[in-house]
Amino acid sequence: MNLDTAIQYLPGVGPRRAQLLLSELQISTVGDLLRTYPFRYIDRSSIQTIASLHPDQAYVQVRAQVLKVKLFAKNGAELPAEKLKYNAVSRLVATVADATGEMEVVFFKGIKWMHSRLLPGSVFIFFGKPTVFGSRMNMVHPEVDAPDSGSAGSLSGVYPSTEKLKNGGITGRVMLKLVAEALEGVLPTLEDTLPDYILKEKGLVPLSFALRQMHFPQSQDALAKASYRLKFEELFLLQLSLVRQKYIRSSNAHGLPMPSVGVPFRRCYDALPYELTTAQKRVIREIREDLRSGRQMNRLLQGDVGSGKTMVAVLSALIAVGNGYQACFMAPTEVLAHQHFANVSRYLAPTGVQVALLTGSTTAAARRKIHSGLRDGSIGVLIGTHALIEDTVQFKALGLAIVDEQHRFGVDQRARLWSKGPGGVAPHVLVMTATPIPRTLAMTLYGDLDVSIINEMPPGRKPVQTLCVGENKRHAMHNFVREQIDRGRQAFIVYPLIFESEKLDYKNLQLGYEEIVKAFPLPQYKVAIVHGQQTPQEKAFNMDAFVAGRAQILVSTTVIEVGVDVPNASVMVIESAERFGLSQLHQLRGRVGRGAEKSFCILMRGTKVSKDSQKRLDLLCSTEDGFTLAEEDMKLRGPGDLEGTQQSGLPIELSIASLAKDGMILSDARAYAQIVLDADPGLSSEKNALLARELRRDKYLMKDYSQIS
Ligand code: ADP
Ligand code: MG
Repeated sequence: MNLDTAIQYLPGVGPRRAQLLLSELQISTVGDLLRTYPFRYIDRSSIQTIASLHPDQAYVQVRAQVLKVKLFAKNGAELPAEKLKYNAVSRLVATVADATGEMEVVFFKGIKWMHSRLLPGSVFIFFGKPTVFGSRMNMVHPEVDAPDSGSAGSLSGVYPSTEKLKNGGITGRVMLKLVAEALEGVLPTLEDTLPDYILKEKGLVPLSFALRQMHFPQSQDALAKASYRLKFEELFLLQLSLVRQKYIRSSNAHGLPMPSVGVPFRRCYDALPYELTTAQKRVIREIREDLRSGRQMNRLLQGDVGSGKTMVAVLSALIAVGNGYQACFMAPTEVLAHQHFANVSRYLAPTGVQVALLTGSTTAAARRKIHSGLRDGSIGVLIGTHALIEDTVQFKALGLAIVDEQHRFGVDQRARLWSKGPGGVAPHVLVMTATPIPRTLAMTLYGDLDVSIINEMPPGRKPVQTLCVGENKRHAMHNFVREQIDRGRQAFIVYPLIFESEKLDYKNLQLGYEEIVKAFPLPQYKVAIVHGQQTPQEKAFNMDAFVAGRAQILVSTTVIEVGVDVPNASVMVIESAERFGLSQLHQLRGRVGRGAEKSFCILMRGTKVSKDSQKRLDLLCSTEDGFTLAEEDMKLRGPGDLEGTQQSGLPIELSIASLAKDGMILSDARAYAQIVLDADPGLSSEKNALLARELRRDKYLMKDYSQIS
């Protein structure tokens, strides 16, 4: 038997149980079973007195003597022991006692067997959850052990379980038995997954020790060592595979050479209306290094909303142009593409570089002109939506592709962009996201990309005061918005739009809009509305009205979430705020606080808000730091639920490590993976043979959605 043996061949399993283990716990091999760890442990070393028991306690252990045993029929009548033969007994109740008091233990199953064991006068360890029935303390179906049977150590594992598993006879006890069987079968010939030198250098216990201790711990200390070893192994192998992919790519991917920053960059830089922040300068330096390295750049740029990523994108694009190439800048929505176009055109004015805008609503005539400008190279920078990845769009020499808000693009869409480079050479790639991703998650999701972070806001941004209020404050909210408008400010009012109930959501939006129009009547007030069911023209018309200040209020769905810049807006009202994710709320809030005025974010809370949702809202009120929020969000919801990651999921399922909790181990594993690969990039040396073999396993041949070519 080894780790890859099908679970059905484990003694005690068979086809039916194998099916159950597969469907309920995704266990198909002996190795899967051994890597299904208890999710908690019960300390069996401490013995409670009966007098101290309390129904609030979880599992406890009592050492007690059996006083008497009674049998009952379904209808509650007491039965004599002879009736056991006829299966007439439905309940066994034993009264047991220690020096401090009495309690009852109750069995509904296995009655015959218990009746033969629980002889009056004998002493047992009863292990179970104390409950109160009537006025008496009792334990239903406790585990019953002889007082001296402490051989397995004092900690006892509790395995994940389901109703189906229990009904199918795979109880906690059976799991322990199966695991013991598996350990016995596997351990004698078990090969470690990590080479000796790594165990030594990192002070890790061997795999065989770790597996045994995870299931049958001898002590807390041994358990801690075991779990550390397994977490490290899991994260290390994952990072090793990611870093290796990065190595493979960077050694293969020949990049377009861009040795100098060039004239347009200089011109734009010198004309900047402000000093770049230290973080912006650092990131631009990182990008410059990549562009002249001779290797293809694959860089993720993370920066909170308003941190000034656009400027970095513009200057990067100009490096490409200065070296004789073109650049394109892909935005996720039409509104954003327009806004980028306006901004970028302004920045590029002093350089003489020609910019064009291509979206779904560009007319055929304009489109033709753009196509030819791209082919003859007269257009240096193209800004657009998905429209710019169409096959008809061809560049003379696309040198840099910038993607804003990358999680909105699918992999294949990006792939098409990368195929647009000159002579089949992929352009350099800069992916920008304002969804802060916790470092540990970024290392895993984008483990094969280089990551730059803008961790500093341009000077002069005012903090946004955030408050969370209930329905009873709606009137006050209207008054507050009115007050701000009377001071010449503008307000966003955002409604959730959640895919599953789209119809209902639009109805809410429409009702909300009508209510706002009533509360803010013409001619004094103008309210614009933007949502996904409008034509691009309607959308642009409404958006423009708000941007230009003709409308004071913009009612919308989250289409304004990313990027829209209206410095005069000082209030962001978010309806049914509990229905948004934390990162999304943070993004929305980032729409205000861009001007000179103090700004406000008002979270309107619905009537039914879960504790967790309230926690998220409170958190948002307490901090403006996107990374802190992302970390907390991950702790609250787990990495799989983090925004921007749902579609993609994690590259592999982690069975023991947690990205939310094991950040330190992850960083260590990452650094160590780097060291191992620096010394042996191909993992071809004898001492790394085990590692090379592990990485050939299916799960590491990953569906690499973050891969960009
Ligand atoms: P992001 O795309 O990261 O959300 P933007 O690039 O839209 O942020 O920048 C937000 C605002 O800050 C813009 O109005 C931009 O002109 C301004 N800005 C960018 N960099 C600086 C800087 N170094 N100093 C002052 N203002 C800046
Ligand atoms: Mg932006």
